[in-house]
Amino acid sequence: MSQKANSKLQGHAWIQEDSFARQIIERSWDLYCQFDIHANLTYASDRFHDWFGFIPTEFQQIARFIDSEYRVDVQKLFIHTLQTQASSKIEFRARSSIDNVIWFECLAIPICDSEGDLVQICVGLTDITQRKNQESRLVAMAYHDPLTGLPNRRLFKEHLQQSLLQAKRTLRPFALMIVDIDDFKIINDTMGHDVGDAFLQAFVRRIQGCLREEDMFARIGGDEFMILLPAVDCDENVKGVAQRVIQSVGQIWDVLDCQFHATVSMGITMFRADLTEVSQMMKEVDIALYQVKGKGRNHYRFYHPAP
Ligand code: GH3
Ligand code: MG
Repeated sequence: MSQKANSKLQGHAWIQEDSFARQIIERSWDLYCQFDIHANLTYASDRFHDWFGFIPTEFQQIARFIDSEYRVDVQKLFIHTLQTQASSKIEFRARSSIDNVIWFECLAIPICDSEGDLVQICVGLTDITQRKNQESRLVAMAYHDPLTGLPNRRLFKEHLQQSLLQAKRTLRPFALMIVDIDDFKIINDTMGHDVGDAFLQAFVRRIQGCLREEDMFARIGGDEFMILLPAVDCDENVKGVAQRVIQSVGQIWDVLDCQFHATVSMGITMFRADLTEVSQMMKEVDIALYQVKGKGRNHYRFYHPAP
C-alpha cells in the first residue's frame, strides 16, 4: 500500500529502496515523511494511514489535519530549515481522522548531497499527546482550587492585574468584591468537616447562579471568595449583585442531610484611575469586609478612600 501511495510521489526517495534504513527510521518516529527543497512531499510512512485514514501524496493533505493556529509554525519550520540547513523542532496540535486531538513533536532534518547542497528535508513526528495532557493537568492544578474547581488566588491575582491594566487604558471601571462566609467555623464544628466541604461546593454553585458569564469568581482561601465584575458602570449594578448574593445565600441549605441557615459578609471596591497595585485593591475590600464583620455581618459595604 505504501509503495503504491509513495509511487505517486514525485522525486527520488531512497528510503523506498533501502528497507533497512526504512525500518530504522519508521521505528524511530510515529510518523515520518520527506520533502524536496520546493516543499513537494516525496515520501510518507505507512502509519499515516493509521492516524489519518490514508497516506498523503502532497503536503496540503497533511496540513488539513494540523490545527489552523499551528500551520504557520509548520511553514516557518520548513523555511527555517531551508535557510539555516540546521535541524529544528516544534510542537503542534493536529486532529486524527476520527477527530481525536493529537500533539506531535516535529523534528525537521536537512539532508545534503555529496556536494553539500541541500536536497531534502526529512520530518519525524512523535506523538506527545500524553505529555501535553499531563502538562495541562499540572497547570490547571497550579491555578485552581481542588475542592471547588474555581480559580485560586494566584490565577485571580493575574486576572485582576490584567483587568487593572485594561481599565487604565479604557477607563471602563470594574468592581472587586470579597465574600466571606459568616461563622463558617460553627458549621464545621457542629456538623463536621464533610458537611463544611460539601457546603463550600454547593455555595459556589449558588453564587455562580448570581453572576454573569464574564464575571470571575475565585476561591482565595478557606471560606473567602473574590468576584471581579468587569465593565460595571455604576455602583447600583454592583449593589444589585451583592444583594442577589446575600439573598441567595440566605435561602435554607440542605447539605448531606443537614439543614441550616447561612449568611455572608462582603467588601467591595471600585476601580479608580489612581490605583496601580492589585494588592491595594485587595486590601481595600478586606478593610470594607472587616467593617461589615464588626457591624453584625450579613451585609456588604463599599470601600471609600479617604478624601
Ligand atoms: P467569620 O464570621 O469572622 O468569618 O468567622 P468564621 O467562623 O467564618 O471563621 P473564618 O472565616 O475566620 O475561618 C474560616 C474557617 O474555614 C476556618 C477553617 O476551619 C475553615 N476552613 C478553611 N478551609 C476549609 C475547607 O476546605 N473545608 C472546610 N470544611 N473548612 C475549611
Ligand atoms: Mg468566615
